[in-house]
Parts: sequence; C-alpha cells; structure tokens
Amino acid sequence: MKIAVLPGDGIGTEIVAEAIRVLDALDLSFEMETALVGGAAYEAHGHPLPEATLKLAKEADAVLFGAVGDWKYDKLDRPLRPEQAILGLRKNLGLFANFRPAICYEQLVGASSLKPELIAGLDILIIRELTGDIYFGQPRGRRTAVDGHFPGAEEAFDTMRYSRPEVERIARVAFEAARKRSKRVTSVDKANVLETFQFWKDIVTEVHKDYPDIELDHMYVDNAAMQLVKAPKKFDVIVTGNMFGDILSDEAAMLTGSIGMLPSASLNSSNQGLYEPSHGSAPDIAGKGVANPLATILSAAMMLRFSLNQAEAADRIESAVKHVLASGLRTGDIWSEGTKRVGTREMGDAVVAAITKKTITG
Ligand code: NAD
Repeated sequence: MKIAVLPGDGIGTEIVAEAIRVLDALDLSFEMETALVGGAAYEAHGHPLPEATLKLAKEADAVLFGAVGDWKYDKLDRPLRPEQAILGLRKNLGLFANFRPAICYEQLVGASSLKPELIAGLDILIIRELTGDIYFGQPRGRRTAVDGHFPGAEEAFDTMRYSRPEVERIARVAFEAARKRSKRVTSVDKANVLETFQFWKDIVTEVHKDYPDIELDHMYVDNAAMQLVKAPKKFDVIVTGNMFGDILSDEAAMLTGSIGMLPSASLNSSNQGLYEPSHGSAPDIAGKGVANPLATILSAAMMLRFSLNQAEAADRIESAVKHVLASGLRTGDIWSEGTKRVGTREMGDAVVAAITKKTITG
C-alpha cells in the first residue's frame, strides 16, 4: 500500500503530521512518501504541482493531502497559484467523485450554530461532481462584449457544461452510496433556469431506473441551501454538480460545528483517491499549533476504507476520535465551557493513545 503524502502549506504540515502518527499507530505496513505541493512547491521548484509530485501521486494507491494556499501568493499568475495544485491533481488523477460526510458528533452538538434538536444525530453525505461544470468548462476568459447589456464593454465569462457520461457516472456513485445507507438520494440542480441542469436532472432520472430500491427526489439549489439549515436531517445522500456542491458542502460543514471536523475523499473510477480535510490552509492560525487535526485524521480513515481496503482500521480511527471527544478534549475551534482546550499535537497524542488503548488524560 503506497501513500503519497502531500502536506502543502499553512496548517497542512501540522495536521498531516498528526494523521501520519495515527496511521503509524495502527501497525499496518504502508509505504509513505512525502512531496511538496502548493506554495511550498512553488517556493522550491517554481510550480505548485511539480512533475515529481504529480508522478508520485499517480503511482500511489492513495494521496493524503493537507491544504494549500496563502494570501501572499494572491498576486501570482493564476496557473502558478497554490490552489492550482489541487485542481491539477483532481484533473490528472480523474478524481470525479467527491465524498463529504457531514456528521454531527454527539459531544459537539453545542458547537453548531443551529439549535441542538436540528442537528443532533445528523449524518448526511454530500457527493459532489468534481471535474466538470463551470469550474473546468471551456471557453473562459475576458473579452470585449459584442452583445448583452453593454456591447463594447469589457466582460468576463465561464462555461457551465456537463456531458452525459459525466452525469451518469456521478449519479451511479450516489445511488451505490445510498444503498449502503438509508437508500435516499436528493439530486440538487437549477433545472428551472439552466439548460445544463435540466440535462443533469433528466440523466439522473434515467439512471435511477437501474436503482428501483433507492428513493430519489430533486431539489433546486436555492431550496437545498435553505433546507440544509431548516431541516438538515431530512437529507441522506445529496448529489450535485461541482459549483453547487462546493457551496453546499461548506454550508453543511458548519452544521457540524467546525470545518476542522470535516474529512473528504475524492475518488476516480479505479478507487484511487485523494483524501483531505474540507478546510483550507488557515494562514491565520498556521504555525501556532492550535489547528484541529481531526478532519485530516478522519480523512485518513476514509482513505483506509475506500482506497486501501482496511475498513477495520478505519473503524478504529473513527472510534478513537469519538472516544477523545467524549473525554472532553477540544481544539480551539470546537472548544466550549467545561471542556479542556488542547493544541494540534495533544489532540493527535490523544487519538494515538486511544488507538493503542493507553489512558487518555483530560
Ligand atoms: P480556511 O478553511 O483555510 O479557513 C477558514 C477559517 O477556518 C479560518 O478562520 C481558519 O483559522 C479556520 N480553520 C480552518 N481549518 C481549521 C482547523 N483545522 N482548525 C481550526 N480552525 C480552522 O479558508 P480560507 O481562510 O478562506 O482560505 C485560506 C487559504 O486556504 C486560501 O489560500 C485558500 O485558497 C486556501 N484553501 C485551500 C483549500 C485546499 O487546499 N483544498 C481549500 C480551501 C481554501
């Protein structure tokens, strides 16, 4: 089992270090190789995704990714910005299916901005299409408008597009995932306004014929955004396009209390995957040792389950995280009165201790 470890920038290095300690505590044999990515790679090699890093990622069974980005790179040409590394990895590895579970841990019910009764027991899965839509559609650019409201004015444009196979495969991923859960899928679109999403809705409906055991409903994205804060537990699996999924999954993240708790997996058709926390590089807290490593540790658990066929080891990590939360330890982002505030390293220590069944302090 070969894992490419790409810590990246900001808190990326701190949180990935803890995930690696947790993986080491499992006593499984992995081959792990680390490479630079994002701003760190730009500083060393002049590119956020150097050839050697991409090669390592392609050859590995799975990629454990931290986060990339820093405000100081905002003035670089777009292709050289750290965030291009993650887009390049998604594209080159064909990572079209992004899984983002939003689970509200019992102990963190109070950390959510929603009322406890709305989110206690929340367990939803957002499946976001990751390599198409307006984020990748060509053409895009700037030009002088020849029509529209202001002909002759400078304008910018992007292209929203989906092909039939792209929608079919993500719909199948969602129906298959729903089979292992409560057999309900909500497909989120904007079919009332956008041709691309009427097409999306038609194809999801067609594919659904192969999954008669799954209940399917369709919802417009504006309504879905509202329902996620009004009655999030009504959802089980949500499947949607790249842009809507980007926005809704961050909204869902906040339901759980902190973005620092949310893992994610991005898979291709051969189950090779990239695993990363849903948050960014958090430059505001980088280097302070206070970042929550749990989203990355839980991403490592997803990696074991989805790409490395080690479901039992994944269960051990997830149980250890629950155990640590139950013991009252909290990083600053999830801290509340009556719990014990700890740093990144201590949180990692506690998860390792729970895995190896040593006493947990605090
Ligand atoms: P962010 O997710 O980095 O931070 C948002 C807020 O959440 C900040 O206040 C931060 O301190 C906090 N936060 C994030 N992760 C945390 C953790 N594990 N523990 C405790 N607090 C945490 O988003 P941002 O500030 O909008 O972006 C910062 C940089 O990250 C930008 O350069 C952005 O482009 C990049 N980014 C990268 C990725 C990625 O690598 N996949 C994703 C999103 C943003």
